[in-house]
Amino acid sequence: MTTMRAMQLDAPGAPLRWVERPLPEPGENQLRVAIAACGVCRTDLHVVDGDIRGPLPIVPGHEIVGRVDALGPGVQGLAIGQRVGVPWLGHSCGVCPYCASGRENLCDAPGFTGFTRDGGFASHCIADSRFCFALPDRFDDIHAAPLLCAGLIGYRAYRLAGEAPVLGLYGFGAAAHILAQLAVGQGRTVFAFTREGDRAGQAFARRLGCAWAGASTEAPPERMDATILFAPVGALVPLALKAVKKGGRVVCAGIHMSDIPSFPYADLWEERSILSVANLTRRDGTEFLALAGQTAIRTQVTAMPLALANEALARLRLGAVEGAIVLVP
Ligand SMILES: [Zn+2]
Ligand SMILES: [Zn+2]
Repeated sequence: MTTMRAMQLDAPGAPLRWVERPLPEPGENQLRVAIAACGVCRTDLHVVDGDIRGPLPIVPGHEIVGRVDALGPGVQGLAIGQRVGVPWLGHSCGVCPYCASGRENLCDAPGFTGFTRDGGFASHCIADSRFCFALPDRFDDIHAAPLLCAGLIGYRAYRLAGEAPVLGLYGFGAAAHILAQLAVGQGRTVFAFTREGDRAGQAFARRLGCAWAGASTEAPPERMDATILFAPVGALVPLALKAVKKGGRVVCAGIHMSDIPSFPYADLWEERSILSVANLTRRDGTEFLALAGQTAIRTQVTAMPLALANEALARLRLGAVEGAIVLVP
């Protein structure tokens, strides 16, 4: 085979377009990956809708599971045929003040898979071998895909939420369904907040061990120590702030959110805090994937053919997804 297939974004808001291109050759420290599965993330929607702007054309997708298909010069510790995961953080510069202080997630010159470099809505992609992960054997390809962003950036948000015995998750999609299982497994009490009237989503959350599930406008049974917002809805921030205890944290886990309405300072008072989570470090990835390999976490996925990427995005936009959608080339 000398060509590859991809679903390409030409302009914000346009449907992705099926393209065929010559197979790319990996450069220094790079791999060519033959893709087996790629998860569809809310960030892909933000890229396609133009909520966040990067270079175009671009192939979205940053939850890539595949096998090493070609090795560039200098690649170490990886062989042809080996399974790898390619995440959102595709590259960091290694020398800026953030990289130098262990915060490569905030790198000044990063490369983001499926946003500033071509991603996984394709049959093949090029990846920096130093930013790829080994994946736990207990997950097959399609079930491993959501671990690579929903799981991994979800885990960074979970870490920043702190030692919260009572944790709230707003927006019960791909990330929350993984994190809920991790938190429940670690003995925490988890409350799930969904769109109003989303009975199916609330039942799904309870099946995964959440102690309570309801609409984001409803009051949970008790105040929470921390909440994580996966839904890109700024109006949830003041609601979540009102629902946390003294010293409580409200962690915003998405890359884009609608504006946050104003709220009284009294709601922030008593050392409550609002923070955002950006990207991931490789340490987040290895820590989370080790946990995912050892615990009983299962991912719920709906597999769809790559050619139906536009339909997959439309379903995610409507919120009509239990767990995660994964595209298969
Ligand atoms: Zn850097
Ligand atoms: Zn993502």
